[in-house]
Amino acid sequence: MSKPVAYSVKAYSAASATSPLAPASIQRREPTDRDVQIEILYCGVCHSDIHFARNEWHFTQYPAVPGHEIVGRVKRVGPKVTKFKPGDIAGVGCMVDADLSCPFCRAGEEQFSPTHVQTYGSTERHIGGPTFGGYSENIVVNEHFALRIPANLNLPAVAPLLCAGITTYSPLRHWQVGPGKKVGIVGLGGLGHMGVKFARAFGAHVVVFTTSPAKKPDALRLGAHDVIVSRQPEEMKAQAGTFDFILDCVSAEHDLNAYLAMLKVDGNLTIVGAPEKPLPVAVFSLIMGRRSFSGSMIGGIRETQEMLDFCGQHGITSDIEMIRMDQINEAYARMLKSDVKYRFVIDMASLKS
Ligand code: NAP
Ligand code: ZN
Repeated sequence: MSKPVAYSVKAYSAASATSPLAPASIQRREPTDRDVQIEILYCGVCHSDIHFARNEWHFTQYPAVPGHEIVGRVKRVGPKVTKFKPGDIAGVGCMVDADLSCPFCRAGEEQFSPTHVQTYGSTERHIGGPTFGGYSENIVVNEHFALRIPANLNLPAVAPLLCAGITTYSPLRHWQVGPGKKVGIVGLGGLGHMGVKFARAFGAHVVVFTTSPAKKPDALRLGAHDVIVSRQPEEMKAQAGTFDFILDCVSAEHDLNAYLAMLKVDGNLTIVGAPEKPLPVAVFSLIMGRRSFSGSMIGGIRETQEMLDFCGQHGITSDIEMIRMDQINEAYARMLKSDVKYRFVIDMASLKS
């Protein structure tokens, strides 16, 4: 197979772990047989973008272009594409390619496939170099990884569903959160606020754990039945041993044992937050009460489509604050202070102007 031709695209990138994001030019491939080229209209800002741009997970290649909560309009399609036509609205999350032949891909869990290519931070299989994310004019992805967007939803507020949405929906479904279950959501940021909306929509009793007392009214408005300020020991003590399931969405170092102690016998804490440094778990937090501790990474494409359709049926989107591309460094600084309500979304038209 001959190498596809590359073309230049405007983007925002980090040149090193310590540089702010700045305008840049990157290369994309011309669409191959099964590719769709999507003009990016909106891109959500995930905390993973910050970990990645700053090399906190120790695999970043520079220049680094973050962004994996993408919605846009299909501009061109390869000759074998059947799922989309030019003019359609499409979404792209954290994955853009895989050979689709392994057991994980066949089971609809592409996120575990050894061949899956991440939207940013992987190697581009056609033209080489790193893959570049959604802080850019357009993107080219295998049609399998492009999602259909329910027409009734507000498009900018849909973008965060492509990562924050599926990352919380998937473990809540996997652990069968629903009526009769008491569920804790730790950290009311981009992921956490979607976790609250889904857990409530699934019929669970929802409790938010936050370090930010000022977020209490919002937590209740978003769907929580109760809010615990995790820095208040008395509030924490009163809840010990009462939770069936806890979803930990925290981006920084914190005490896991304080949350494991909240679980009932046989309760589970699933972590989706991915802080830079390891978090110590005291074995007695688990042994006492046969509790379990697990993790979860985004979700497969089939489940991502299911989540989007569920959001269409139930009118669920993200609570967003729209920014211009040139406000991205300020947005990162605010996210690091837990000051986001509850997802920044970049209006990508601002990259052109
Ligand atoms: P975010 O919007 O910045 O929210 C993180 C929240 O964590 C903050 O709003 C804050 O909530 C809480 N927090 C921050 N620092 C804290 C600290 N020192 N102690 C306790 N709580 C603290 O981040 P996000 O985009 O939701 O992402 C959260 C994490 O999930 C990141 O690490 C990200 O990389 C990871 N992630 C993982 C996956 C996956 O597939 N597993 C996918 C996407 C993202 P309060 O103010 O309520 O305390
Ligand atoms: Zn993300």
